[in-house]
Amino acid sequence: MLRRSVTDMQVVIGALFIAVAFSWLERRFPVRRQKRFRPGWFTDVCHWVFNQTIVNVGVVIGAIPLYLLLGWAINPSFQTKSAHQPGYLQFTCAIAIAELSFYLIHRLFHHIPSLWKFHAIHHSSEHLDWLASVRFHPVDMIAARLGIGVPLVILGFSAETFGFYITFNIIQSIFIHTNVRCRLPGLRWLIGDPQLHHWHHSKDVHNKNFGHPLIDLLFGTLYNPPPGDFPRAVGVEQKVPSSYLKQLMYPFFKY
Ligand SMILES: [Zn+2]
Ligand SMILES: [Zn+2]
Repeated sequence: MLRRSVTDMQVVIGALFIAVAFSWLERRFPVRRQKRFRPGWFTDVCHWVFNQTIVNVGVVIGAIPLYLLLGWAINPSFQTKSAHQPGYLQFTCAIAIAELSFYLIHRLFHHIPSLWKFHAIHHSSEHLDWLASVRFHPVDMIAARLGIGVPLVILGFSAETFGFYITFNIIQSIFIHTNVRCRLPGLRWLIGDPQLHHWHHSKDVHNKNFGHPLIDLLFGTLYNPPPGDFPRAVGVEQKVPSSYLKQLMYPFFKY
C-alpha cells in the first residue's frame, strides 16, 4: 500500500515536472502566441484536480461487470508466463495493444452521436497547450482506461509494465497537445507529435489522426500535413458550455 502511494506521488511529481518543462517550451517555440492564462485555463485546472477521483471510482465500478463478462478469458498460468517475459518485450507489446485499443475507442467516441457528446468536451478547447491535455469528460476517460486496461490485465502484463505504460501515456498525452512547434520526424513516428494531434482538433479537417500515427496509417485515417502547417482554428462548431460543472452535465442535457 505504501509502495503504491509512493508510486502515485512519483507520478504526480513527474507530471508536474513535465508540465513545467512543456510550459517553458511553449514560451520558447510556440505554434501560436497565446496568454499563459488563456480562456478556459481555470476549467482545465478543475478537470485536472477533480477528474482523477471521479475516474478512479468509475473504473472500479465499471470493472465489475466487465470482470463478470470476461472473467472466463483470464488464464493464470498464461498471465504468469506473460509477466515473466523481458521488460522491453512486455513494454513494447503493452504499448502496441494499448494504442490499438485507444484508437478503436476514440473512433467510436467520434462516430456514435451519444458518445460524441462526451468526447466533444475534449474537443471544445480552442487553445491547445499542455493544460488542454487534461480536459476530458470523466466518462470518456473511464471508457478509455477500461478499454485499454482490460486486455492488458487479461494478458497478464506485470505491475512494472503498467507503471511504465502509465508514465509513457501521461508524457505522450501532454506532449501532443502542447503549443510547441516541434520538428523531430523520428519522434513523430515513435509517439506522435503536436502537429499531427492539433490537426485532430482542427475545425477544418475531421476524423483524422485518432491515435498513434502508424495505426492511423494502417486504418487510412492519417493526415500528414506539410512541415510547419498547423490548423487555422481548433475546437468544435457546436456550443459547449465553458464551466467545469456544466461540461460534466453537458452530455446528459440539451443546451
Ligand atoms: Zn478526438
Ligand atoms: Zn486531444
